[in-house]
Amino acid sequence: MEFSVLSLPGDGIGVEVAGEAIRVLNHVCRKFNHKANITEGLLGGIAIHTTGGPFPAETERLCLEADATLMGAVGLPEFDNWPPEKRPERGLLGIRKTMGVYANLRPVRSYPALLDSSPLKNHLVDGVDMIIVRELTGGIYYGTPRGITGEGAASRGTNTMTYSWAEIDRVTRMSFELARNRRRKVTSVDKSNVLETSQLWRRVAVEVAKDYPDVELNHLLVDNCAMQLVLNPKQFDIVVMENMFGDILSDEGAVLAGSIGMLPSASIGARKPNGFWVGLYEPVHGSAPDIAGQNKANPLGAIGSVAAMLEYSFGLKEEAAAVNSAVEAVLNSGQVTADLRPKGTPATTTQVGEAVCEAIG
Ligand code: NAD
Repeated sequence: MEFSVLSLPGDGIGVEVAGEAIRVLNHVCRKFNHKANITEGLLGGIAIHTTGGPFPAETERLCLEADATLMGAVGLPEFDNWPPEKRPERGLLGIRKTMGVYANLRPVRSYPALLDSSPLKNHLVDGVDMIIVRELTGGIYYGTPRGITGEGAASRGTNTMTYSWAEIDRVTRMSFELARNRRRKVTSVDKSNVLETSQLWRRVAVEVAKDYPDVELNHLLVDNCAMQLVLNPKQFDIVVMENMFGDILSDEGAVLAGSIGMLPSASIGARKPNGFWVGLYEPVHGSAPDIAGQNKANPLGAIGSVAAMLEYSFGLKEEAAAVNSAVEAVLNSGQVTADLRPKGTPATTTQVGEAVCEAIG
């Protein structure tokens, strides 16, 4: 297979982890006889320095052209006091909007070698393997009217949570499709005992489920889901929810795995004529200015994002599994970065990337 990938390393450790992710992508392609044509673009602080804005027109063009996009992270301390619309992070909103990626997928799984890094007891975390699917472009973060009116003690803040049938349909449908390749279980999370948007959410989920009789659907209220994620996280396979619930619960899910440096994510949009999804892949973490430029960052979240890209944007499941198994082998070998608290000298970012390639074979 031949495909094009846009790499947007961004700022800080983004550059270091994206470098290792691309190393692994190239290695997988060599091993499995694929050709990845990789282009590099500017996003975030580096783009502000070079072009004056965080999401230049050239990057916009490149991400629309590429078959998939891999991002490192954005954010530089020197821009911390800039207004939000000029900061590097605005580049993230720009690219998500341009690519129309409406579902954020965060795989959360436990690794035997990292069980002690989890805040939960080993027996609760061992065997966790779920994907949290968060609706990404609707709901209360985008609804209008919004704003603060009035002054002082008389002021009032307003946000609006709104969802259309179509917005719920596409993200729940994607969840059922994902479940078909896994344990065939979808948990739809809502607050239908209080919110009308959630009543509609549940109604649509039930309708969509009729097209997937081979997949089990159950519903959980969001407050109960928050509790179940720590009481019995192994019960979940695919968990789908609206934007704000997903923002909160995906961070709760993130800590199950141990270190933030471990976590990949995939933001998925429309299905292309070839059957694969438009995708933007990035580790969950930020640019980590405290360790940037020191070859200390854990690249496994970025490398896991490559595995997600291979699976969702290119349908290369065997190749994705090879990357995930190699990550697990490297964790078991103990050759890991400082955030995973290795017994001996911590490995560098580069050494971990090389070790993953070696484990792929
Ligand atoms: P952060 O994720 O960059 O760092 C939080 C802590 O985790 C730091 O101590 C850092 O050293 C550590 N850490 C993060 N990733 C790591 C890795 N791969 N390996 C080892 N340790 C790792 O969050 P922050 O400090 O709140 O934000 C720093 C900058 O990143 C800010 O400008 C913020 O806006 C930006 N940010 C960007 C994204 C993104 O690009 N998607 C996400 C979050 C934050």
